[in-house]
This record gives sequence, C-alpha cells and structure tokens, in this order.
Amino acid sequence: MSDLNSFRGEVRGWLAENCPPEKRGPMREDDHCFGGRNWQFKNEAQRVWLDRMARRGWTAPEWPTGYGGGGLTGAEAAILREEMTRIEAHPPLTSLGIWMLGPALLRFGAEEQKRKYLPGIVRGEIWWAQGYSEPNAGSDLVSLQTRAELVGDEFIVNGQKIWTSYGHKADCLFGLVRTEPDRPRHEGLSFLLIDLRTPGVAASPLRLISGSEHFSQIFFDDVHVPKENLVGTRGRGWDVAKYLLLFERQMIGGMKAGETIRLSEFALKHLGQEALRAEPLLRARVAEFDLEMAAFETLVERYGEEATAGVALGAKSSMLKYFGTELNVKRHELMLSILGTAGLNLDGGDAKTALDWLGALANRIGGGTSEIQLNVVAKRVLELPGS
Ligand SMILES: Cc1cc2nc3c(=O)[nH]c(=O)nc-3n(C[C@H](O)[C@H](O)[C@H](O)COP(=O)(O)OP(=O)(O)OC[C@H]3O[C@@H](n4cnc5c(N)ncnc54)[C@H](O)[C@@H]3O)c2cc1C
Repeated sequence: MSDLNSFRGEVRGWLAENCPPEKRGPMREDDHCFGGRNWQFKNEAQRVWLDRMARRGWTAPEWPTGYGGGGLTGAEAAILREEMTRIEAHPPLTSLGIWMLGPALLRFGAEEQKRKYLPGIVRGEIWWAQGYSEPNAGSDLVSLQTRAELVGDEFIVNGQKIWTSYGHKADCLFGLVRTEPDRPRHEGLSFLLIDLRTPGVAASPLRLISGSEHFSQIFFDDVHVPKENLVGTRGRGWDVAKYLLLFERQMIGGMKAGETIRLSEFALKHLGQEALRAEPLLRARVAEFDLEMAAFETLVERYGEEATAGVALGAKSSMLKYFGTELNVKRHELMLSILGTAGLNLDGGDAKTALDWLGALANRIGGGTSEIQLNVVAKRVLELPGS
C-alpha cells in the first residue's frame, strides 16, 4: 500500500509539472487529439502533452514497456486515472488504437505485429478507424459481405463499409472481411488491417443532421492487402472482433454518462432555488436521475476494482454500455427541460446541450445498440434461455 501511496505522490508531482494548464479543464471538441500521419496539432500544449505522456508510455499505461506502454499494474493505472481526473487533465489521445485495436493485438496479434503496431499507437502516429458495419450488416454483423480473397501473398478486398467513425480522416482501418464465403457465417470471417492509402480505397464523409461529418463510407475496389496484415487465424476473425467489442463497450459505457457536475447542481445553477421549488415534477426527476447516476458510478467503481484484481469484465461490458449511454440520453433530455428554449442552440456556443443530446442518442447505437446490449446481458450475464 505504501508503494502505491508513493506512486500516487510521484504521479501527482509529475502531472503538476508536466500537464500544461491548457490541457486541463472541461474538454471542447478542439481539445481532442486523434493523432495520425497528417495530424496538425491544435496548439503547442497539445503536442507537448502527447509527447510527454507517450514518452512515459502513459497513453497506454497498462501495456508492456517492450511495446511502448507504461508497464503499470491495474492498481497503478487506476491511480494515474484518478490523478488525471483530479486535475481535469485531458486524455492526451483520442484513439481507437489504444481503446480497441491495441488490446486485440496484445491478445491475438503475432509478435511481429505487436512490435510493428503497438509503439506507434502509443505515440499516436497512426489514426485507426473501425471497419465493422456495412449497409446490410449492423446488429447482425456476421452478415457482412466485404470479401477478401487470398491470391498469393495478398488478400484482394472488394466491398463496402459504412458508419466508419472518421474513416475519411483515418490512416488505417481494422475490420472484418469475409475470407471463406462457403463456410458458415461466423466461421468465414477474418480480421484484417488495411492501410487506407492503398490504391482502390475510396472514403467519403456522411453529413449528419448536426452538420458534422463524423461518419464515412469506405469502398474497396480490388484493394491489395499483404497477407501479414491478417490478425489471428484466417476464418476466426469473429473471435478477435468480439473480444475487441468488449473493450469498445466498456469504453463507451465507462464515459460515466458524460457527467461533470451533478444534475441537481446544474438545475440550481440555471433555474435558481425559487424556480426549481415551483417545479416539483422536474425536481423529482432530477433527484431520481442523480440517484441512478450514483448507483451507476458505484457499478463502474466495482468493475474497476474487479479489473484491478484481475477479474475480466467480459459480457458485463454490455451492462456498462447500456446503462452509461441510456443515462447519458436521460441526462441531456433533463438538461434540455431545465434550459428550455435556451437549450436549443444548435450552433454550439456556450450552451451546446442540444448538440450533445444528439451525440448521446448516437452513442446508444454505436458499438451495438441498446437492444443488442440487452440481448447480450440476457444471454451471457443472466444466462436466460434463448428463444
Ligand atoms: C456514433 C456511432 C459511431 C459508430 N462508429 C462505427 C465505426 O466506427 N465503425 C463501424 O463499423 N460502425 C460504426 N457504427 C455503426 C454501428 O455499429 C451500427 O449502427 C449498429 O451496430 C447498428 O446497426 P445498424 O445501424 O445497421 O442498425 P440495425 O442493425 O439495422 O438495427 C435497426 C434497429 O433494429 C434493432 N435490432 C436489430 N437486431 C435486433 C435484435 N436481434 N433484437 C432486438 N432489436 C434488434 C436495433 O436495436 C435497432 O434499433 C457507429 C454508429 C454510431 C451511431
């Protein structure tokens, strides 16, 4: 314990000295650093912060030092997270490489692949996107039709992905392709890494109702991908993809429903005590929400402690994803009720609640919809009989 206390002291001191003041406080859209080959840092503080964290391996604190990670134990990584939260330090990287691909490579990747990709992910050198969904394969992902035919030392990829977050800006894609079309659906899939600069790849953005271009569709027309970009066993990509989804769901759910201050504080700040007293129904809903949120935080804490003790979260990540995202929607709906017409500011500015509400609705779908999470919880956590 005293070791952990001294580690906390070391982390606190290091953060005080190394986390630039500009990289603390509530995060705005511009504060995200996605990294990648063409990344233009928004300011010097962003560059310095990433560089300092990556040098210590603290962008991926629990990965082995041999692959550029921090080599921290679960307990030490939890302390680092707590100390960063304490000073409201921004994550140095917003990276699917760190959240999703890295854990999958650590488990399924060949040694050569780990050495090739993991250190670059730690330093944010490649912007990775996730290529799972297709026009007719979302919830029913195993229906996907993008083909990859092995010809000599290369896969020849043809097909289309959709809803790829930032696919038109990313450098590389990790995703699922069908390599054995004659095998049963789950067995014919492989997990492939594709450089999006390869000839035959075309990525175009999809504009959303909010005006942002978060998604893209990506077309593959005879794209040649080296055989060594296959992760895991050919035809067993579903195992890799499912494992990766556990981390995706945990990450989305663990966002603590986007909460920075309690909803009751928010209501008091915007309505004042008098007005709030005159709205008993709203007051009750706000209080109920804060209680649900506190229960959810306890759940997140419990799972965090279990993870520290080496207990894998497994399918329970679907519970986190479900509750985290549903609470986030509820929170934003209540915030809009509190703000009234002032909350309908779709142009951003100070009150960007309406935009965040749209984002919250989308988070309920990305990484698998709420209905799918409930199905997973029913089958794999509660072990209810199937229909
Ligand atoms: C913010 C966001 C980010 C995303 N990022 C990515 C990304 O980077 N890469 C990527 O590959 N994809 C991404 N997606 C796509 C996402 O994974 C899919 O949208 C999602 O899996 C749902 O698939 P679908 O849109 O085809 O809907 P469908 O599967 O067609 O579902 C339509 C409706 O039917 C319901 N439904 C379907 N099957 C069942 C069932 N068995 N039981 C009960 N209800 C069911 C669903 O819950 C939903 O309400 C993203 C989506 C969002 C919103």
